[in-house]
Amino acid sequence: MGGYGYTKDFPVEKIKRDVKICCIYEGTSEVLQMTIYRGRWQEHLKSRGRYYQDMADKMDALHAKEPNAGAHYAALALRALAAVLEECRVQKLTRHQHVTFRLGTLICAAETAAVFAAAAAADKYSETVRFDRPCRLAMARIFAREAAFSTATEGLALVLGAADTSGTLAGDVNMEAVQAGQKGMVADMDLVALKLKQTFKAK
Ligand SMILES: Cc1cc2nc3c(=O)[nH]c(=O)nc-3n(C[C@H](O)[C@H](O)[C@H](O)COP(=O)(O)OP(=O)(O)OC[C@H]3O[C@@H](n4cnc5c(N)ncnc54)[C@H](O)[C@@H]3O)c2cc1C
Repeated sequence: MGGYGYTKDFPVEKIKRDVKICCIYEGTSEVLQMTIYRGRWQEHLKSRGRYYQDMADKMDALHAKEPNAGAHYAALALRALAAVLEECRVQKLTRHQHVTFRLGTLICAAETAAVFAAAAAADKYSETVRFDRPCRLAMARIFAREAAFSTATEGLALVLGAADTSGTLAGDVNMEAVQAGQKGMVADMDLVALKLKQTFKAK
């Protein structure tokens, strides 16, 4: 909205300002990050690191059935996440509250990618969502690519920032595959942009 989005002459400025409240009530972002981290950290420990590996295996199986839902990117995100969590355990990095917050964010990204891919593949919400199947699949792919990239790069940066060494993490996050997976991102974004334009026509 350019400058009009900033001035008080139009309601759009208030809408943008009000969005901030979503990070405060019903649990502030930091408190939710911590809650999410705590729950999944327990799962990681209990399963001896299998929790996200198993979820990644399921994504690989899904990809074999529906190769267009971004499930293989979600699998990359989940495996990178498993490696990051394990390195944090080995190096006892969760003593830093900052690390726990950021792990909470990475957990959300990787899990959402998996849920999104599964929903797009299964045609879930197809009755209620206005976008057609190719668009829903493209949206899932876009999200999963970003999740794979952020989990691998931010997870690695997090460990490097908190510890003296990242151990074998640089290899374990499989950066080569994550980078290769970014191919096709702009074409998918163009497709979604076109559908958005068609669906929400300017009055
Ligand atoms: C418009 C509005 C409507 C609301 N409606 C309701 C309602 O209907 N019912 C209701 O029950 N409540 C309501 N609330 C209250 C809301 O739930 C609280 O504002 C919210 O839980 C945050 O608590 P707080 O404001 O005391 O902030 P605090 O808990 O003091 O947090 C301040 C800052 O410190 C951070 N912080 C807090 N604890 C930690 C920690 N352990 N580690 C690291 N960082 C931490 C927070 O993330 C935040 O950034 C409403 C608030 C607003 C603004």
